[in-house]
Amino acid sequence: MKKIGFTTSIPVEIVFAAGMIPVDLNNVFITAKSPERNIEQAENAGFPRNTCAWIKGIYSGVINCEDIDTIIGVVEGDCSNTKALLEVLELKGIKSIPFSYPGTDTAEKLKLEIKRLCEYFNVNLDECSKVKVELDKIREKLAYLDELTWKHNKATGFENHLWQVSSSDFNGDYTVFSKDITDLIDKIEARDENKSKLRLGYIGVPPIYTDLYDFVEEKGARIVYNEVQRQFTMADSIGIRDLVEVYSNFTYPYSLNGRLNDIKKQIEIRNIDAVIHYTQSFCFRGIEDIVIRKELGVPTLTLEGDKPGNVDARTRLRIEAFIEMLK
Ligand code: SF4
Repeated sequence: MKKIGFTTSIPVEIVFAAGMIPVDLNNVFITAKSPERNIEQAENAGFPRNTCAWIKGIYSGVINCEDIDTIIGVVEGDCSNTKALLEVLELKGIKSIPFSYPGTDTAEKLKLEIKRLCEYFNVNLDECSKVKVELDKIREKLAYLDELTWKHNKATGFENHLWQVSSSDFNGDYTVFSKDITDLIDKIEARDENKSKLRLGYIGVPPIYTDLYDFVEEKGARIVYNEVQRQFTMADSIGIRDLVEVYSNFTYPYSLNGRLNDIKKQIEIRNIDAVIHYTQSFCFRGIEDIVIRKELGVPTLTLEGDKPGNVDARTRLRIEAFIEMLK
């Protein structure tokens, strides 16, 4: 089956309905044997040092993947760098299909975007809706895994992060994903409750750090909410068959206000004491921190990550001091 890469969550139902394998290129980068080498490779190819590591990692990830020659690039609603990335990849012979999450007249314009993508893949909306019904069964399991984190205090913050972030492409095979998450849930249900009282939320793009969740737990707190990762699961649209409505409810590509409403609601439901706002070096989203810190109403620690790997010493100290202050 042909693989189709993509730069951030897209209506994955369309790719599955076309009988192809969706591949989230962020996951290709971060799970590579040596993600740092991907960054070096991109810099050697001419990417400026002050470009976000995810963009450089995606570039090399695609170049190194012999079986990906077509990608869907989200050119509106995600990253200001994607357009240039697609242009560079085209030079290397990678075909790109642009997709947008329109910021104004969303429903009307998103309908056209989804229709265009369906036409490209030669599928109709009925076929996509049938896939949606199948994916919703897995999304229900993901929503339960999320509850096992914040309500039953059994799943770790990392498990919550990993499985939700992986739902952007269901690891390319939703049947296997469904079986694997069912097995994991069985194991988690058998655990004792984690008694740690300090409950943190994680907001912002997924971390480039590999051991953030473990470090937070080591210091006596727990991350019980992962904002963007949860959005990738489309959990708020389970049961809705209209893809336009589903992907209009997805807060990540639209206004910061929509994200803030979602975050505030989850802080309340989950009884969250404080928030870690993760920003990526050289990402325009870092500017949003000004508004986020003013609006949230709970203590907020802003972290900035750059390269993949463990949390650096200075950031460890800051997290430790934040948790101590909250205790
Ligand atoms: S972290 Fe920011 S700059 Fe980097 S790929 Fe994501 S949106 Fe773009």
